[in-house]
Amino acid sequence: MITYREALDLLTNEDFLKLGKSATELRFRLHPEPIVTFVVDRNINYTNVCESGCKFCAFYRREGDKDAYLLNVQDVLKKVKELSDVGGTQLLIQGGLHPNIKIDYFVKLFKEIKKHFPHIIIHSLSPAEVIHIAKKSNKTIADTLRILKDAGLESIPGGGAEILVDEIRKEISPNKIGWKDWEFVMREASKLGMKGTATMMFGSIEGPEDIIKHLERIRNFQDETGFFRAFIPWTYQPGNNELGGKKVSSYYYLRVLAVSRIFLHNIENIQASWVTQGPKVSQLALFFGANDMGGTMLEENVVSSTGLKFIMDKNEIVELIKEAGFIPAVRNTRYEIIEKILD
Ligand code: SF4
Repeated sequence: MITYREALDLLTNEDFLKLGKSATELRFRLHPEPIVTFVVDRNINYTNVCESGCKFCAFYRREGDKDAYLLNVQDVLKKVKELSDVGGTQLLIQGGLHPNIKIDYFVKLFKEIKKHFPHIIIHSLSPAEVIHIAKKSNKTIADTLRILKDAGLESIPGGGAEILVDEIRKEISPNKIGWKDWEFVMREASKLGMKGTATMMFGSIEGPEDIIKHLERIRNFQDETGFFRAFIPWTYQPGNNELGGKKVSSYYYLRVLAVSRIFLHNIENIQASWVTQGPKVSQLALFFGANDMGGTMLEENVVSSTGLKFIMDKNEIVELIKEAGFIPAVRNTRYEIIEKILD
């Protein structure tokens, strides 16, 4: 287990290729087989209306904007059917912090999805959404999560973590929850026997110290709870948003990815972010600690609203993994392997 200081030193000073080698060694210690997993999934953004107005976000709209929308149950079921028809198993339902929808909307939605598509795993609602729904519905976080779990919610994605350092959050998303609230939701979900993932959006205004602080908070929480099935670092995308700035290099992305693998010894799966890095860098990510390619994302609206659009279907992901010398395997949200693609 490396310390905060050692991690900071690795991120800022270590030789690039040595960093990749150390991360790869650790990856193979946890996953001795040369398998790279991915899930067939779909993102559904039920609304783009959001009260939060994060400066880095190009996706949200205000209520009354001409392109503001809120999907109804039938709209969502149609999309879930398309996912099911291509053999998908994971649904990531996320959206803005809508001023007028309460818990009943989600209970109805999740119950209908589970009724028609019981094999689909609902991995949905970031901690900020859970808190927002609880407030709008006058419920505690624990009650909100219990009700959503009973309706079919199985796993909580770590979205909205950005950087878990409040000084940075105050700058880039001043109206969003602080890091302790993010952790509190995950803790309550853990107490209910749920699982989730952790993310990190870096490359906006934070420094290397903030990145390592974020990793440290994730590692400590994981030590206590074992809640996270995976860690997914991805880069801030400037474009069509208030924050602006420049994109960090793929070189820096790979450094952060490798340090994440080395520092987070207690999280088994580290995902490559092909949505922000594109196919070629995500292949390189497999030599910097990643063992998972994330999802096929039949639909993606949040990153693409910044103007960046990488699209890959299942066959392309399979080819990408093979080309890099690994065995592709389809998994579900629980990281259980459904199919190894050997030919
Ligand atoms: S990142 Fe999420 S919470 Fe922030 S403005 Fe965009 S939709 Fe709203």
